[in-house]
Amino acid sequence: MATIPQDRQLKTALPGPASSALSARAQAAIPRANSATIPAYAAAADRGIIEDVDGNRLIDFASGIAVTSVGASAPAVVAAIQAQAQQFTHTSAMITPYEGYIAVAEKLNSLTPGDFPKKTSLFNSGAEAVENAIKVARTYTGRQAVVAFDHAFHGRTSLTMALTAKAVPYKLGFGPFSPEVYRMPASYPYRDGLSGAEAAARSIQAMEKQIGASQIAAVIIEPVQGEGGFIVPAPGFLPALQQWCNDNGVVFIADEIQSGIARTGTWFACEDEGVVPDLVTIAKGVAGGMPLSAVTGRAEMMDAPGPGALGGTYGGNPIACAAALATLEMIEQEHLLERARQIETLVVDQLSGMQAQDNRIGQIRGRGAMIALELVQPGTTEPNPELTAQVASRCREQGLILLTCGTYGNVIRLLPALTISDQLLTEGISIIEAALNETKETN
Ligand SMILES: *Cc1c(COP(=O)(O)O)cnc(C)c1O
Repeated sequence: MATIPQDRQLKTALPGPASSALSARAQAAIPRANSATIPAYAAAADRGIIEDVDGNRLIDFASGIAVTSVGASAPAVVAAIQAQAQQFTHTSAMITPYEGYIAVAEKLNSLTPGDFPKKTSLFNSGAEAVENAIKVARTYTGRQAVVAFDHAFHGRTSLTMALTAKAVPYKLGFGPFSPEVYRMPASYPYRDGLSGAEAAARSIQAMEKQIGASQIAAVIIEPVQGEGGFIVPAPGFLPALQQWCNDNGVVFIADEIQSGIARTGTWFACEDEGVVPDLVTIAKGVAGGMPLSAVTGRAEMMDAPGPGALGGTYGGNPIACAAALATLEMIEQEHLLERARQIETLVVDQLSGMQAQDNRIGQIRGRGAMIALELVQPGTTEPNPELTAQVASRCREQGLILLTCGTYGNVIRLLPALTISDQLLTEGISIIEAALNETKETN
């Protein structure tokens, strides 16, 4: 277990010499397409801090893209991994299954919204979960069309690239894309000014006119859009979509890969408006850093594909299952749903103070420990990707690991571990504030 002091410390300029040497090796050995946001190589990580190979301690506002919500070396998770590895690392759940898989399925069946019989199938990555949710929806409905939305991100495999909205860097040059995927307008209240009901009516009308309800197998949506810019849809949008799906025999899939597992202060972000999806895709935060993903949903839908039709060599790996059980238990025992809401209060409070002084902060939005700032040209709603890149880069130089996102590249997103200290949170945001202020002087 890593027990790194929970404070920021810069011993060298970033990247330091040991990281630079690794960067040189990486350049020769790894394609440029596998680029890294911050060329500081990790040596250890724990809660709010990543220590690099030069001994620098960086504040972590990324959690490995919303993965290490309980921390990157939580003692209970590490112990569960060690204990399972000593018994066996793999047998394949498709050959000689094991209890951990069932226990994870039972847990996810009970945690996901909906008071009806559910079943869960396990996979490795988020994209794989999305692909399999679509397979389930297509076999269950006997229909082919799948609806995704503007600003959506669902992964980088062939089908999920088709579902993903943004061309660069995810899609450009990688076509042809999977057929029978349709893109509809979403709800982006800051930019479209529509109420949830208006935005839903627009999407529903487009689905009916352009595809035909009877042709649609599934509608897939992120309840809070992640890569697209931490976009929280206007209230009423998701419930109206869900209702329309229910009325038309369309499978409603909530992609909770980024927004789920306590991140927004509830187990799943769709709970905020009482939305009950037919299928939920789960990954990222579910297993304390181990690769594990899941599709959880209505038993009759999950049972539509025949024996052997779902699965994979590694799906539901026993070590990943042990890590997931420890992670989910830790979220309960350490009250991390509540902690996510505390983080929201603390972060939004500090950011609101900054926004009052800075008309380049267009909007602060998000829920729980999934909060973003959308940066704009002063006093307008015009996206400001240059400022966003500048601020992120200054923060990284100061030892704050910070991610951007958004269709227009103008959103700074905060995804700290739920186990980060208040002090590191405050310090991290002060670094963002200082970076914004410095750019005021140069702009
Ligand atoms: C990250 C992400 C995915 C893809 O997950 P991978 O594990 O990278 O394949 C899918 N959907 C959403 C909402 C995501 O944030």
